[in-house]
Amino acid sequence: MRLFPLFADLKGRRVLVVGGGPVAERKVKSLLASGALVTVGAPETTEALKQLQAQDRIEWLCNNFQPDWLADVWLVVAATDDRELNRQIAALANERRLFINVVDDPELSSFQVPSIVDRSPLTIAISSAGSAPVLARRVRERIETLFDHTLGSLATLAAKYRSAIRQARPELRPRREFYDWLLDGPVAAALRGQQPEQAQQLLEEALQQPQATVTGKVLLVGAGPGDPGLLTLKALRALNEADVILYDRLVDEPILELARRDAEQISVGKAPGEDHNATQARIHALMLERAQQGQLVVRLKGGDAFVFGRGGEELEFLRQHQVPYEVVPGITAALACAAYSGIPLTHRDHAQSVRLVTAHCRQDTMLEDWPALAQPRQTLAFYMGVSQLDWLAGQLILHGRSGQTPFAIVENGTRSSQRVLQGTLENMARLALQHNIKAPSLLLIGEVTALAPKLEWFGASIRTDKTD
Ligand code: SAH
Repeated sequence: MRLFPLFADLKGRRVLVVGGGPVAERKVKSLLASGALVTVGAPETTEALKQLQAQDRIEWLCNNFQPDWLADVWLVVAATDDRELNRQIAALANERRLFINVVDDPELSSFQVPSIVDRSPLTIAISSAGSAPVLARRVRERIETLFDHTLGSLATLAAKYRSAIRQARPELRPRREFYDWLLDGPVAAALRGQQPEQAQQLLEEALQQPQATVTGKVLLVGAGPGDPGLLTLKALRALNEADVILYDRLVDEPILELARRDAEQISVGKAPGEDHNATQARIHALMLERAQQGQLVVRLKGGDAFVFGRGGEELEFLRQHQVPYEVVPGITAALACAAYSGIPLTHRDHAQSVRLVTAHCRQDTMLEDWPALAQPRQTLAFYMGVSQLDWLAGQLILHGRSGQTPFAIVENGTRSSQRVLQGTLENMARLALQHNIKAPSLLLIGEVTALAPKLEWFGASIRTDKTD
């Protein structure tokens, strides 16, 4: 973040606006609206500014810029069309440690004025840090249409009842739920229907209801494969409501950034040297402890929690300890990597089924069903397979799958660093080594992977043939 956003209370504080044209006029009006005492300094001004002066609503210094104008002000706006003069004013203001905005000149400004959506007392400010004001305005237009004008009345109502709400809902979570209800429920509806008295009455009635006892809960949430755009709306909501978030190593920073600011975030990925069972026991203990304290625990996992995510084990544990839970599915790596590399997992001409397989438990007899895995006309999606490509390819070929079967390895799927490596089964291990393929990577095997060159649309691909 290049600029620190802040909302200034200018009520009763003097602000100097240098310049008297239409741009200055606009700034003066918005400064007056927030209660500032405004001095305009300019040899000539617009009619509207003259009128404001005649009504004693602004002070007008009818002159060219004088340095002593800066003496008693909190903030400066320079709105002259003379860049050299603006530069001088900016230099003097900086010397005095006064914040200055030079209109449309981020380089000379020490503060900038955002585009705003006004639903007073609720104000939404948008800034592009001066780099693209037009873009900020476009965003503003979109936001304008998102929030209807009753939001302002709702905010006023909430302000009026703020301490009553705090008293009636002393604990944080019920209070948040109350505000959710206020925003989404009948009170907002009454305001939209222009029935402010009814809205107020509904709010008062709701406050009479006793606060429900706080019980902890765990939400087992799939975070998807990496691209934050692939979170579900429910996952986003969970991140916004969580008291504490226990997240895995596969969950990236851009997703955690979407969480409520004051939610506690705890990384519960495997510690160096720690074995999987110790990690799992630690996670179980932490979930239980926090839920028993009445917290809303979000257990956030990469992809989907029920696909090679040990989500089942975690729920068994919670059920055993009578902790309530909910599950929010996520987009699993196989679906996401296939989509982001242009590989349809099934296709009428090539594959009638798809199997999600873990290559992790090599000794596991489950995986020894090689004859079935080597069947044609199916797509195999191997999770956690990059470290044993040699063995995987060897077994499949040994059990009858052709060495010419195409494969795709999707590394860092859906992230900006995504790479897709393609080739045939017999060359797979060598190619992956040659191109230094690393985890997390998903391995897709089957005829459908040959469609990628035709259908790809995202990121970089490495295509190879036998001569490679
Ligand atoms: N629950 C997760 C899978 C966890 S197992 C899910 O549903 O996706 C971890 C394996 O998932 C990794 O070894 C890799 O094979 C795969 N994986 C997860 N995210 C990936 C990504 N962004 N790109 C490629 N593979 C990924």
